[in-house]
Amino acid sequence: MPLTPEQEAEIAALRETSRPTLRPVAEGMERHLHLVHPVLDHGFVRVVDYMGDDSSIVQAARVSYGRGTKSVQNDEGLIRYLIRHWHSTPFEMCEIKLHVKLPVFVARQWIRHRTASVNEYSARYSILDREFYIPAREALAAQSAVNNQGRGETLGDDEAARVLDWLREDATQTYDHYEAMISQEGQQGLARELARMNLPMNVYTQWYWKTNLHNLFNFIRLRADAHAQYEIRVYADVLGAVVKDWVPFAWQAFEDFRMGGLSLSAKGVEVLKRRLAGEVVTQETSGMSKGEWREFEGVWGV
Ligand SMILES: Cc1cc2nc3c(=O)[nH]c(=O)nc-3n(C[C@H](O)[C@H](O)[C@H](O)COP(=O)(O)OP(=O)(O)OC[C@H]3O[C@@H](n4cnc5c(N)ncnc54)[C@H](O)[C@@H]3O)c2cc1C
Repeated sequence: MPLTPEQEAEIAALRETSRPTLRPVAEGMERHLHLVHPVLDHGFVRVVDYMGDDSSIVQAARVSYGRGTKSVQNDEGLIRYLIRHWHSTPFEMCEIKLHVKLPVFVARQWIRHRTASVNEYSARYSILDREFYIPAREALAAQSAVNNQGRGETLGDDEAARVLDWLREDATQTYDHYEAMISQEGQQGLARELARMNLPMNVYTQWYWKTNLHNLFNFIRLRADAHAQYEIRVYADVLGAVVKDWVPFAWQAFEDFRMGGLSLSAKGVEVLKRRLAGEVVTQETSGMSKGEWREFEGVWGV
């Protein structure tokens, strides 16, 4: 379980305390506020705070005094227009603050998204928990033969069992040594800031992460993509589900134009035009490299 009973009680208390407000409220997001969404074996995502809703995007786009437009259809239409035309600043008017618990190797990928404010749990100040990411059996796969940056076939039973044993043993051993090093019983005890260097990358860390909707969309587009590593993708998927409830119009437009849509190169557009005119175009006559051609054909399921 990612939370102790005391932490659960704290969250329950937060959810019992409500106040009237003049600020925009997204009903869908209120349902998520403070609650823990479990991810991987010990991780989670929880929304600590948010600002704005779909109408805040419209309001900013129109620089209006009150609600954005007069009808719900107009709001949705304007949001789709903004996304379609890469008019991004209105989406920066919505903000989200998250509390995330994640393995260190996932955090290293996540932190590359620089357009956010982050405050991480201090392992200089506090003692890290004995919590390590141990993948589910079905997540253990061999190196991909086609993608250097990915995994391929699932490991066979014997190999998977061996890997899981090693992961558990190593985690137990390194944490035992970590505890022994910081212990002050019968010794001075090594500083926490040094003892932590012994811990492997699957140890869990936590942070508060605040960003705006535009940058969150960028994060989700890159990290919920099939090319992203499974262990960060599952976090991006949870965030996607939260955003869908928070700003349903913006999410729909984002799914349609960014996640589900695609952009073509000028050569790609030219090949399509030639094909629509009945010409048989091959990689050799397309002007594209082999890699470009493979990806282009992949889009149409060829
Ligand atoms: C599948 C995948 C594989 C990857 N593999 C690798 C890898 O092998 N090695 C590696 O190092 N990284 C890798 N990355 C990380 C990737 O290169 C980006 O650093 C990461 O996705 C963050 O994206 P971002 O810069 O758009 O996000 P953010 O940092 O949030 O930036 C958002 C946008 O702000 C602008 N911006 C922010 N800072 C600057 C700046 N200093 N200068 C100019 N513009 C800026 C850019 O337009 C940027 O797109 C990988 C990412 C993915 C999704």
